[in-house]
Amino acid sequence: MSKNVIIIGGGIIGLSSAYYLQKEGHQVTVFDQSNMDAGASYVNAGYLSPSHIIPLSAPGVMKKGLKWMFNSASPLYIKPRLDLDFIKWSLAFNKSCNASHVQKAIPAIKDISLLSQDLYEDIQRKEGFTSHYEKKGLLMLCQTDHMLEEEIKIAHIAQREGLEVIEVNQEELKVLEPHVKLEAKGATYYKCDSHSTPQEFMDNMKTYLISKGVKFYLNEKVDDLEFQNGKIITIKTNKQTFKADEFVLAAGSWSAILSKKIGLTLLLQAGKGYRINTMRETGITIPTILAEAKAAVTPMHGFTRFAGTMEIGGINHEIRKERVEAIANAANRYYPEITLTEEEKSLAACGLRPVSADGLPYIGKSAKCDNLTIATGHAMMGWSMGPATGKLVSEIISNKKTSLSLKMFHPDRRF
Ligand SMILES: Cc1cc2nc3c(=O)[nH]c(=O)nc-3n(C[C@H](O)[C@H](O)[C@H](O)COP(=O)(O)OP(=O)(O)OC[C@H]3O[C@@H](n4cnc5c(N)ncnc54)[C@H](O)[C@@H]3O)c2cc1C
Repeated sequence: MSKNVIIIGGGIIGLSSAYYLQKEGHQVTVFDQSNMDAGASYVNAGYLSPSHIIPLSAPGVMKKGLKWMFNSASPLYIKPRLDLDFIKWSLAFNKSCNASHVQKAIPAIKDISLLSQDLYEDIQRKEGFTSHYEKKGLLMLCQTDHMLEEEIKIAHIAQREGLEVIEVNQEELKVLEPHVKLEAKGATYYKCDSHSTPQEFMDNMKTYLISKGVKFYLNEKVDDLEFQNGKIITIKTNKQTFKADEFVLAAGSWSAILSKKIGLTLLLQAGKGYRINTMRETGITIPTILAEAKAAVTPMHGFTRFAGTMEIGGINHEIRKERVEAIANAANRYYPEITLTEEEKSLAACGLRPVSADGLPYIGKSAKCDNLTIATGHAMMGWSMGPATGKLVSEIISNKKTSLSLKMFHPDRRF
């Protein structure tokens, strides 16, 4: 049965949901408070990375966060704040940083990432998207023996999970990346990963959805929900009021503000990250994570992107120079012949990752509301998990059996 569906948020999660919902024959409308040309879904590193099987909330992460709390140039910066939502999130996050949670999360993360990668390829092929997409794998480049040992341990876990990953020594690195000088002890190489140029995919998807009759309201913020007897009746934007049968909350880092309107406290924090682009030829051909610095490097269509840092400091888009410098300095340490210019750094942009309290997304309906499907909290993996999340959202609203179990992603789960 065709339904009227309103999607709040036009990032990768909102657009992927719109894609699968319109395929099922639903009437879809997307609201976004922005012009839909910036933010996390545009500045990300473009990785579709089944390799990232370890959730953010892993043993030692909170300890590192606390250690780095007073260093605003560190890869993970948690700014202490007297804010109840932040305190609740921190406590839950800390609780999730344990080996047993990681063990349970690995298959769930792997399955949704692999499904998403397949769906991404499927969309590109079926709809004739011209956006850049390549499967060249991902290098985890290490400068210290300690980090290399850690990465090799993770690679063994990934191998046991059936992912294709090998160890690579310095000589082999030279063969893999012959046109750029590398400063590294070695790497692990995940052949299973692919990468893309996010802006191109987002543009292709918007054009496609408009051609299929999906309506877009840009620069229109959903401010309020009329919620009665466990159902949303209307949404109120800064301009007007709209009715629908079903609603999707895909508002990224802002989702917890709206979930409160149905009485649901979604433990979610914005994790700011930055990107610096260089149009100059770098010689880099394989996406690479600079393991110690936790920075990502991606050869995109016509430019190279350096991205990274996770700054848990509330919802704001302030560009902190020391964090941009930290990414540029990391690039120079691993690629000694690459120095990002002042102009390139001055054009750095940021985006907010919606970070859940246990490193897993929230996908599904809360018991509090019959007609709201929540799809957020993907943190560092939202680009990878976008298409699969959209498919799951569409299956939920169409009352179909979901492609994957949603148990680990339930928005009402306790921590
Ligand atoms: C530097 C960086 C690098 C990254 N690299 C990768 C990567 O390589 N691979 C990967 O998988 N992930 C990566 N990520 C993470 C990924 O980008 C995010 O998880 C993903 O983009 C989140 O998508 P989203 O649609 O949930 O949120 P968003 O992209 O933030 O979209 C949410 C939208 O909702 C709108 N909105 C919010 N509130 C309202 C409201 N009240 N009314 C109307 N509209 C509203 C916003 O304007 C926004 O457009 C990276 C992120 C960053 C910052």
